[in-house]
Amino acid sequence: MSERFDTVQGSPQVSEAEARRVAEEAREAAWHRPSFGKQLFLGDFQLGLIHPYPEPDPEPDERGRAFCERLAEFCARSVNNAVIENDAKIPDEVVTGLAALGAFGMKIPPEYGGLGLSQLSYNRALTIVSSASPAVGALLSAHQSIGVPQPLALFGTEEQKRSFLPRCARGEISAFLLTEPDVGSDPARLGTMAVPSDDGYVLNGVKLWTTNGVVADLLVVMARVPKGDGHRGGITAFVVEADAEGITVERRNAFLGLRGLENGVTRFYEVRVPAANRIGEEGQGLKIALATLNTGRLSLPATCAAAGKLACKVAREWSQERVQWGRPVGEHEAVAKKIAFIAATAYALETIVDLSSRLADDKRNDIRIEAALAKLYCSEMAWRLADELVQVRGGRGYETAASLAARGERGVPAEQMLRDLRINRIFEGSTEIMHLFIAREAVDAHLAAAGALIEPGIPAADRARAAGKAGAFYGRWLPTLVAGEGLRPGGYAEFGPLAEHLRYVERSSRKLARATFYGMARWQGRLERKQGFLGRIVDIGAELFAMSAVCVRAHDDPAAGLTGELSGQEAGTAAELAAAFCVQARSRAEDLFRQLWRNTDADDVRLARGVLSGRYTWLEEGIIDPSLPGPLVAAAEPGPSKLATVQRHIR
Ligand SMILES: Cc1cc2nc3c(=O)[nH]c(=O)nc-3n(C[C@H](O)[C@H](O)[C@H](O)COP(=O)(O)OP(=O)(O)OC[C@H]3O[C@@H](n4cnc5c(N)ncnc54)[C@H](O)[C@@H]3O)c2cc1C
Repeated sequence: MSERFDTVQGSPQVSEAEARRVAEEAREAAWHRPSFGKQLFLGDFQLGLIHPYPEPDPEPDERGRAFCERLAEFCARSVNNAVIENDAKIPDEVVTGLAALGAFGMKIPPEYGGLGLSQLSYNRALTIVSSASPAVGALLSAHQSIGVPQPLALFGTEEQKRSFLPRCARGEISAFLLTEPDVGSDPARLGTMAVPSDDGYVLNGVKLWTTNGVVADLLVVMARVPKGDGHRGGITAFVVEADAEGITVERRNAFLGLRGLENGVTRFYEVRVPAANRIGEEGQGLKIALATLNTGRLSLPATCAAAGKLACKVAREWSQERVQWGRPVGEHEAVAKKIAFIAATAYALETIVDLSSRLADDKRNDIRIEAALAKLYCSEMAWRLADELVQVRGGRGYETAASLAARGERGVPAEQMLRDLRINRIFEGSTEIMHLFIAREAVDAHLAAAGALIEPGIPAADRARAAGKAGAFYGRWLPTLVAGEGLRPGGYAEFGPLAEHLRYVERSSRKLARATFYGMARWQGRLERKQGFLGRIVDIGAELFAMSAVCVRAHDDPAAGLTGELSGQEAGTAAELAAAFCVQARSRAEDLFRQLWRNTDADDVRLARGVLSGRYTWLEEGIIDPSLPGPLVAAAEPGPSKLATVQRHIR
């Protein structure tokens, strides 16, 4: 990339093509292990990759369960959500108590002082903590899903692991610093510089929205190394001591939700970082960030699963007790439909996290698509679910828990749930970016086969060669999309009443692949701009993944009753939830299939252009804009801080 810099922000000016190239370079191109998600988008429904439901190793699983019990006891006793909400702060004793339990080293291997829990146990633990307080869940997850432990586990040297991991495991808090005022979804604009010096690098720049940044001891910082003699340069990851000279945490930010989050603005001025603290090679920073997120992305769905379970409990208790118009509100059809959605979705969210975690642990599969689908789907569905819960609770859904309690009612934090969950659709890859990320993988086989064909300006000879290659691929592939197990009336019979849903998934996987092909053929190189179309392709894939997950889980769940192992009240209940979810998901998928070809996308783009050009500003007249004055994106000039630090350590 040519290095031109904005004068004010210090961020490079980056064209759309350059931004895309940076993202493409960071992408892990190779597939070394099978991927259920990748095949699903190719119309090849490989149920065998997720069925039978992967069983965890008994010994670590037992250790994980024992830890989760201790953690649940601690949370029930010591984590007070109402206090955290009221004070907008997690009490230090909660942090030190969690550290004493080992909760800051859940995924760190025992040889480095951690508990060495599996992904499955880690996510179960996060579900417990997040149900008690989403802010505490976010603290632990930012620390070890994206903070120092995860990138070091994947890319750190033995020496780095030995010097940093035991500290993280003991409870020294870590944070991950990528975002800047001018860098959100587009890391190519990264402006923080790491200039090589005699013994390492010198960091200058400003990082925004650093979760845990206010109380962190160790930071993972993404900075740009300039190209030079002996330096390949590029975006690079570093471990940085949070109280190194030249670091100022200038602010603690406040948000719609997650009030307990210790999220800051961190300024680096002439901060010296030893070369030994560089993670991986120069220029590998974004690759490291993406690989970190491959499994790191599963923690956020775990917090969504917690919200699903709580919503289910609250909806049940409230809707049977609250009587209006002569019946419990849960018996009115409009409310009943919401309860059915909440229950079925809660089952699916837990299942997606559970299955993806088991797949991550057994390491037979490449789970980057499943983890991304889990992040996308769980964050979107948990938001809808919380919104429906607020509606079911009526006015009490909108009232804060503290206000309810002050009036002598149960302080149900439904509105808090909605506020806390909203960020999940934005951070760790916004929904729009996840759509693009997954769509890129979904069309990868097409790009490999026909990419050269759709490139503009390609010479005639190369075009003919590319056409031959594409013809060979599609000649082999398209016939596989015509028929499959989903068309056989007895297909997937071992799944009993759930078999019809798997047959639907199999048929729909082929239909989805055909639609992707039609999209490629119709729009060719312009397909990447058809974000409405691509988003729906991904959303259909997510529904199919979720349906497959609930079917395989219910099949092996004693409560499903499919294998006749359980009698009594619980028999058949998992299969009921799985079937209900599949019917709902199928209806959503069918809507999406229809909208692939009948939609308002092109009209919307045209209208949005008109809005952006100011064509309709008359519509905005007659109101008072209560926003406080200031630029929409503040300039973050590098240099010494003019503010006192708000950084503090919890020891
Ligand atoms: C509470 C909180 C905690 C956070 N914690 C951290 C942290 O610990 N570490 C860290 O580094 N960052 C953190 N972030 C930053 C977070 O990851 C970013 O907010 C997120 O990446 C989105 O970037 P942005 O807000 O700048 O949105 P922008 O990139 O400005 O995007 C604005 C909108 O445009 C959409 N958009 C952008 N590009 C495209 C595109 N190419 N196609 C389609 N749509 C697009 C986005 O999806 C979004 O809807 C945090 C943010 C918050 C609010």
